[in-house]
Amino acid sequence: MDVDENSNMPKPHDLLWFSDGSVVLATDIYLFKVHKGLLSLHSSVFKDMFESLNFDGSVSGGIGTGGSQEMYEGLPLVTLVGDKGEDIAHLLRAVFEPRYHDRHSDGTPLETVVALLVLSTKYDFKNIRNDVIFQISRHYPMTFRDYLSKDIGHLPLFGRTREDCHFYLLNAAFRADIDVLLPTLYLACSDASIKSLLGTYAIMPSECVNRLLMGRESLVEQQDRLVADLPERLREAIGKNACRKGCSCLKKAFYGSLSELINANFGGLDGAFIATFHLNGVCSDCSPFVVNEINTKRQEIWKNIPEYFGCRSWDALQKKLKEISGPSTW
Ligand SMILES: [Zn+2]
Repeated sequence: MDVDENSNMPKPHDLLWFSDGSVVLATDIYLFKVHKGLLSLHSSVFKDMFESLNFDGSVSGGIGTGGSQEMYEGLPLVTLVGDKGEDIAHLLRAVFEPRYHDRHSDGTPLETVVALLVLSTKYDFKNIRNDVIFQISRHYPMTFRDYLSKDIGHLPLFGRTREDCHFYLLNAAFRADIDVLLPTLYLACSDASIKSLLGTYAIMPSECVNRLLMGRESLVEQQDRLVADLPERLREAIGKNACRKGCSCLKKAFYGSLSELINANFGGLDGAFIATFHLNGVCSDCSPFVVNEINTKRQEIWKNIPEYFGCRSWDALQKKLKEISGPSTW
């Protein structure tokens, strides 16, 4: 393979071209001269791939190999089919440069995060995969209060705003089958308009979008019920003697502009917000009771969110994430 005759052919990567490398990996735009032993140590897929390289340079097949084996400057040349050179560069740098990826960083570029998640799964780099899952999960936590504390769309994340990351991360997590990330990513994406969601069929697996749409419908239905039932729950509160001081304000209290709360925004159904901006005539002594009533109902919705999106329960996923998130082994 002569890469210099044609400018469209892949070129040696500036950094990932080690003089003592033992294999050349080919992608669409880059060639990487790297070490078989180190890749085999961290990746069962590369290990199997390299073991299948025959003495005569031919390859017995396997994921990522391109059929008939070629040589490059006396070294086996393995074509990584279907992977972008830039993405493979992120993966290999994470392997060869210990500080390239920091799982505690919020500033890793989104493109790097996505590439590492998808490719570490494809090639079975367990440590990198676990680190990226941990890194993402910190911003999409699985407990009610932690999730709400992070659910601020305009805050910076991975070189963009948080809300700009939702769909890219969901797409990557779905493709890589990272179940511990899916419920909160589905939830985060649910706040988008139906028009936007339908547009994602062009870039995301249809099963992923189907689950997102169906889960969103269940979520909206439950949220709408919560809002629609608020006046009734207020009347129930009167019977519970909500105010210990014998205040009768709840009998005269009334909700206003509740239709503004009919949407898919889970974060917008905060009890204190609703009591402040939509409930009239409640005194400061009785208000906490009403707020608590709303938030209790909201937590009941939260418990069922994984089920809405066809995922396992929070408990099961939290247990799995804890195993994944153990101390970094790098
Ligand atoms: Zn009162």
